[in-house]
Parts: sequence; structure tokens; C-alpha cells
Amino acid sequence: MSSVLITGANRGLGLEFARQYAADGWRVIACCRDPQRAHALQALKGDIERHALDVNDNLSIGNLVTALGMAPIDVLLLNAGVHLQKDCSLDELNADLWMREFQTNVIAPLVLARRLADNITRSDLRRVIAISSGSASIAGMKSGGNYAYRSCKTALNATMHMLAADLAPRGITVVPIAPGHTRTDMGGATAPYSAEDSVTRVRGVIAGLSFKDSGNFLSRDGAPLPW
Ligand code: NDP
Repeated sequence: MSSVLITGANRGLGLEFARQYAADGWRVIACCRDPQRAHALQALKGDIERHALDVNDNLSIGNLVTALGMAPIDVLLLNAGVHLQKDCSLDELNADLWMREFQTNVIAPLVLARRLADNITRSDLRRVIAISSGSASIAGMKSGGNYAYRSCKTALNATMHMLAADLAPRGITVVPIAPGHTRTDMGGATAPYSAEDSVTRVRGVIAGLSFKDSGNFLSRDGAPLPW
């Protein structure tokens, strides 16, 4: 049976990833800041173990690594993320919030992938997936605004591209995937896609990956996106 570790599994896309993988018979290692209060996650059925994880807290990461021991992780799903200043113009930009966003959206995923690299190496599938955003594509940046979130996701793509090179000798495939604008707390109620649809599509892309895809930036349909 394959296993997936999901960060931010208590709501939004992370919760839906947990639901779908568990329904498909995977062993799900569902991580979130406060599992005791993650009622929707607790209600899911299947082979799900729940762990406390604040991706910005080294102690919390250390506790997770210890709890997992030698357990293999087939897919590490770096999903947790923040968008602290939505629809933010140039004049509204808050540098402190930008720094906090960079910590959660860029540094934390890389740190976690590094700390769990041995567990991923011990698995059959050996995949690291970062949930990125189409708004990260520099080629697609025809407008200004939302500097913090967009530049963080661009930096996330860059770090995953570099990580793909570092983890290639271990046979690990590293891919950032854009799920599309989705109705979650972050995406808002008017986004075009449901979480069920976006997660179904991203899971399809993950299932179809091969090692030659490592280091690419892919859409929810598996098409390469321009950097
Ligand atoms: P939500 O705001 O609904 O959920 C964000 C998740 O990240 C929550 O589970 C939250 O936990 C978790 N999280 C935030 N900070 C931390 C932290 N320090 N430690 C652990 N968990 C944390 O967002 P979405 O589900 O929409 O987004 C999931 C991912 O998809 C993000 O990376 C986002 O950038 C990306 N994405 C989303 C799009 C959309 O339209 N929805 C489009 C493109 C990309 P808590 O409940 O504790 O705050």
C-alpha cells in the first residue's frame, strides 16, 4: 500500500487530498497544526494517522520525524501555505507579512523535504509534490499586485527545481503543481473549481509522473507551465 504525507491536512485542498487518498486505500499521514481541533479530518474514514505539525517550527518537525522513524513516504505533499495580504496593491504591501509568507510558503517546504528525504528514499514511488500556483509563472505576470504571494510561489518553484537536482541521485521526483483557482478559505467562494475537482486532477498528475518530469512546473492537467 502506498503512503502520502500531507501538510495542512485539516481544511481546504489538504483535507480533500486526505479524503481522496484515504478513500483510495492509501496510508495517509495527515499533518496539521492542531489535530485535536481538526474535526473534519477526524471524521474521515480510512487508514489515516494524524500528527501535529507547524511547518515553521523546527521542534514540531523534529517530533514528526521521530514519530515517523523509518516509515517510508511514497508521496510528500507540501500543501500548507498562506496568503496573508490578498488583493494587495504596491502601496499596501507589508514587508513583515511578506517575510512571514516566505517562511511558510518557501523555506518550510524545503526544510521538510530535506528532513523527510530518507523516508521518501525508502518508498517505492519517491515523489515530492509542492502545491504551487499559476500566479507564480513570471511569463504569465502581465499585471502587478499580490507581490508577496506570487513571488513566494515563484521562489517555491525555484527551490523545488534545485531540490530536484539534489535528490536526483536518490531517484526522487520533485514537481511543483498548480492546482488552479479553487474554492477554499484561501481561494474564496467565487473561484471556478471545487476542491474535489482540483484534487482529483492533481492526484491524476501525481499518478502519471515519471522521473523525467522531475524539476518541471506542471498545471492541474499535467501540462508544463512556463517559469
Ligand atoms: P487554505 O487557506 O484553505 O488552507 C491552508 C492550509 O495551510 C491550512 O490547513 C492551514 O492550517 C495550513 N497552514 C498554514 N500555515 C501553516 C503552518 N505554519 N503549519 C502548518 N499548516 C499551516 O488554503 P488552500 O487549501 O486553498 O491552499 C492549499 C495550498 O494550495 C496552498 O499552498 C496554496 O497556496 C495553494 N493554492 C491554492 C489555490 C486556491 O485557489 N485555493 C490556488 C493555487 C495554490 P491552519 O488551519 O492551522 O491555518
